[in-house]
Amino acid sequence: MKIDKVPVKGLSSKEYEKALKISWDPVLKYNWDNGKAIGRYLHELKKGRIIARVCDKCNRIMIPPRMFCEYCFRPTDRWQYVKDTGKVNTFAVSRVYWNAQRIPQGEPPIIPAVIEIDGASEGMGLLHLLGNVEPEDIKIGMKVRAVWKPENERTGSITDILYFEPVREKNPPKAKPAAKRR
Ligand SMILES: [Zn+2]
Repeated sequence: MKIDKVPVKGLSSKEYEKALKISWDPVLKYNWDNGKAIGRYLHELKKGRIIARVCDKCNRIMIPPRMFCEYCFRPTDRWQYVKDTGKVNTFAVSRVYWNAQRIPQGEPPIIPAVIEIDGASEGMGLLHLLGNVEPEDIKIGMKVRAVWKPENERTGSITDILYFEPVREKNPPKAKPAAKRR
């Protein structure tokens, strides 16, 4: 049988006042199982290290680590530490917060970026943030390094790395003077 009209109507505010109601604060607790690969990865972040998983068949060094190689359809073989430096694969400059609220004038933008980590296979990277840099100075392929939280503030989270900042050479090569025009 097809029901065309549902014979209900909302309560008026007067009726709502009279209606029997209960209220309570729910206690919402949950646990999240990170699994073997991400569990170890987060544990190492707490120690200030980045760890990858290696597949000996395709020779890929994978970051973030995974226990299964999606290319070879077989378990990965071993753990391997990689560096906390890398290069910018891609980035975006956001002038709004995650809730779409505009970032106030004078406040720095949020710069999410994919960082290809040194020691991992090419193209393997982390989605993180860039910091301590002006947006107009960022280049694809720019060398960056992780800025870690102090050890006693780390919790075993990707946010144990605050952001990645440019690696600035101590003695950058002097720019060649522009050739004189004749
Ligand atoms: Zn593989």
